[in-house]
Amino acid sequence: MDYRAFLIKYAEIGTKGKNRYVFEDILCKQIRVHLASLGEFQIRKEYGRIFVEAESDFDYEDTIKELKKVFGIIGICPIVIEERTDFDTMKQRAIDYMRECYGEKALTFKVDARRGDKSYPMKSMEINSEIGHYLLEAFSEYKVDVHQPDVLLHIEIRDQLYLYSQTIKGAGGLPVGTNGKAMLLLSGGIDSPVAGYMISKRGVELEAVYFNAPPYTSERAKQKVVDLARIVSGFSGKIRLHVVNFTDIQLAIYEKCPHEELTIIMRRYMMKIAEELAKKNKCQALITGESIGQVASQTMHSLACTNEVCTLPVFRPCIGMDKQEIIDISEEIDTYETSIQPYEDCCTIFVAKHPVTKPILEIIKRSEEKLNDVIDDLMKKALDTVEVVEARFEDWER
Ligand code: ATP
Ligand code: MG
Repeated sequence: MDYRAFLIKYAEIGTKGKNRYVFEDILCKQIRVHLASLGEFQIRKEYGRIFVEAESDFDYEDTIKELKKVFGIIGICPIVIEERTDFDTMKQRAIDYMRECYGEKALTFKVDARRGDKSYPMKSMEINSEIGHYLLEAFSEYKVDVHQPDVLLHIEIRDQLYLYSQTIKGAGGLPVGTNGKAMLLLSGGIDSPVAGYMISKRGVELEAVYFNAPPYTSERAKQKVVDLARIVSGFSGKIRLHVVNFTDIQLAIYEKCPHEELTIIMRRYMMKIAEELAKKNKCQALITGESIGQVASQTMHSLACTNEVCTLPVFRPCIGMDKQEIIDISEEIDTYETSIQPYEDCCTIFVAKHPVTKPILEIIKRSEEKLNDVIDDLMKKALDTVEVVEARFEDWER
């Protein structure tokens, strides 16, 4: 079948009462952005649904692949839209449609008809049975099964005739732009890109921050984070990645604080800087890839100590997940292969042999006092020298 149009099904946004129109408009806008480089498409809202119609040449597979990345869509139905004519001609269209999609081979089916206006001379039930009969006559191998048909043929008679029978699963979630913005702490690891993806799926726009430690970490390590941001932006839309030079702060901590507390103190300064950047860039929350117990810096005690410096909510969508569950998502969203590239990040370089696993906040704070002379200047310098890289999926090779 040579499809030129898609019916877009969305679920959760239908439940939002008066806000429904706002949500639908944002979803249309997101679809437009995602498809922009794939051809000319008309995107229209009608009868509480969204239709995407190609107005130029386009690649069917690429278009489906892209629509599957748009949060808010639960189903993508390739649809045939034809002129509305007399009933006999429309019956013939249904036969042509079935023949093209499924051929003559044995299958069970059910017809599900809808009328756009109730003044149409036939009721839906009548249309179902008339067309059902016609199909049975035309295809000797077809049988009706009203409970679990192989093919559920939807026929809608509105201003035009609509035929579809296939639903491709969409990403689900809510359209990006319906739920504010958050700052993702994005490292080169497996977890944080997944965390960003998960929160973005709830309709949240993303910015990101990466703590870089040149010359201890390489240019290639930074490029890996840029690449990850680009892959995530394929779902979330453009991500502004703030690259912070963290070297001097790390060296100061290394010089002045007990080594078993390095990681936890470093994590606290990362969160502080991330929060500053979040506020400056109008983000309402922070996101990290932390998961309870994964490493010393992610025990319950460590998480409590890290969290203590933040006033914004910190979202940790991987918190209760096993590593394998996180890996499964990273494979699904295509970040895994990039995440496992072996480039050092700043956490692996300044790491203690025996980090504390049960840090006590008062002790950590006392250790941090040793930084009093230098830390304000270092923080200011780190914030003043942030480099912003725009990561967007248009730059990402399909
Ligand atoms: P990931 O796989 O996401 O790197 P991880 O298992 O390596 O996580 P940690 O190194 O303890 O865990 O980091 C926990 C979280 O802190 C990360 O998920 C990320 O959100 C943030 N983070 C760690 N290092 C950096 C960094 N260099 N820049 C930005 N964020 C970071
Ligand atoms: Mg890491």
